[in-house]
Amino acid sequence: MPNMSPKKNPMPSQAPDVRNKNFLEVATGYTKEVAIDEAQRCLQCKNKPCVGGCPVNIAIPDFIKQVAEGNFSAAYDIINESSSLPAVCGRVCPQETQCESKCVRGIKTEPVGIGRLERFVADWHNAQENIEVKKPESNGHKVAVVGSGPAGLTCAGDLAKKGYEVTVFEALHLAGGVLVYGIPEFRLPKSIVQKEVDTLKALGVKVETNMIIGRVLSIDELMDDMGFEAVFIGSGAGLPRFMKIPGENLNGVFSANEYLTRTNLMKAYREDSSTPIAKSKNVAIVGGGNVAMDAARCAKRLGAENVYIVYRRSEEELPARREEVEHAKEEGIIFKLLNNPVEILPDENGNVAGMKCIKMELGEPDESGRRRPVEVKDSEFVIDVDTVVISIGTSPNPLIKSTTKGLETQKWGGIITDEKGLTSREGVYAGGDAVTGAATVILAMGAGKTAASAIDEYIQSKQ
Ligand code: FAD
Ligand code: SF4
Ligand code: SF4
Repeated sequence: MPNMSPKKNPMPSQAPDVRNKNFLEVATGYTKEVAIDEAQRCLQCKNKPCVGGCPVNIAIPDFIKQVAEGNFSAAYDIINESSSLPAVCGRVCPQETQCESKCVRGIKTEPVGIGRLERFVADWHNAQENIEVKKPESNGHKVAVVGSGPAGLTCAGDLAKKGYEVTVFEALHLAGGVLVYGIPEFRLPKSIVQKEVDTLKALGVKVETNMIIGRVLSIDELMDDMGFEAVFIGSGAGLPRFMKIPGENLNGVFSANEYLTRTNLMKAYREDSSTPIAKSKNVAIVGGGNVAMDAARCAKRLGAENVYIVYRRSEEELPARREEVEHAKEEGIIFKLLNNPVEILPDENGNVAGMKCIKMELGEPDESGRRRPVEVKDSEFVIDVDTVVISIGTSPNPLIKSTTKGLETQKWGGIITDEKGLTSREGVYAGGDAVTGAATVILAMGAGKTAASAIDEYIQSKQ
């Protein structure tokens, strides 16, 4: 008989007024007993609607059945057939719009906590000692992967398991993409990402960091001179957009990317870090997406007294996940909604001394279907801030397109591919944010997987 409790087992978490002063993980994870109890809420539906909500089609009821019976190792093996990053996805997937949105239990009550169970299983697996990774025998074919985010790591892992000699070229000094430089430690501990990278290395994948493809080496050189038979581009969408308002070049104005990179990758929160962003008192984050919530929550943890989210629409239109908005509010982030910045004001030394905003109201829906924000006449006011973080979106960096022969992109920079990830250039595949624009970890992983199987088909077809 399943457990018919209407609510998910709650996720144990640090209290808001404790966690907003540290960078430790907010959610601490299910125990074995709680995981088994939650797994027993699953009805083992024959038509498995939840699986259709998962972009990589994890056999959800099958792994949950194993958890319910306490067979965690078997549960891990089932997840691992479809996902190479379960500890990551169990933490950061927008489950409420994916697998859990299709769960039958969710029609009348709360859905099964699929993401929480996936995280539990992955963490249980990672805590076991002597996990053996067998290095597959080489098939003698070389593939290059550009970028080490979830798309690149997944593609590299899948190809390595088939025996390909894979080299990942990463521009930054650490592998992991947004998982290490964007998503903060308190939502995704970096040790988890490192473990995934170590597993890939144990499979034989070479990871070359500080290698900007398009500067140090080009894709043409990789293919023409270095013997790589195919290339996968998973270079993400890391180029920040700005508002083009006066004052954006002042000291104290950051793109969210730079702000989060300094915090996550350069550890701005540690005493021994030399990055200068830690001294802010009043911080405005411009934007309302998940990236804005992460930046705001980092600013609070870095010691700012007042952190504002400045967003031009209302709470209903905030694009961030509900859970992230709630977490931000609990931690003391102040939401200044229906406000739009028009100018960042300087002090006499060229530092930020305030931000002039104008009030907005919502008009008719625009092409995105959301109500268009319209300025309220003569409603300007100034917020007292010393730091402004712009978080209004990113696009793919044009460097790779401009240095690769015959690579076609959309006007906004996204690389054009077919459904298998093949670009306009033979042997060159792409996936993840570099193709779709900013999206999600699991979609990037799915694209890496699809491309890995297409690359395998392509290379084998040439034999
Ligand atoms: P990325 O993760 O961006 O990785 C691309 C890698 O390529 C980077 O390491 C980059 O340095 C490297 N690179 C770029 N150019 C070159 C070059 N020329 N040569 C070599 N290397 C290069 N998604 C979720 O599902 N859940 C979340 O909670 C979530 N939170 C997010 C929070 C933040 C702050 C951000 C920024 C994004 C978040 N996302 C979230 C989105 C998600 O992280 C991305 O959709 C995903 O990481 C895209 O993966 P990717 O592999 O395509 O690219
Ligand atoms: Fe759900 Fe994401 Fe796990 Fe798929 S990978 S089952 S969408 S949490
Ligand atoms: Fe279990 Fe929900 Fe999937 Fe049904 S839809 S099998 S209850 S997780």
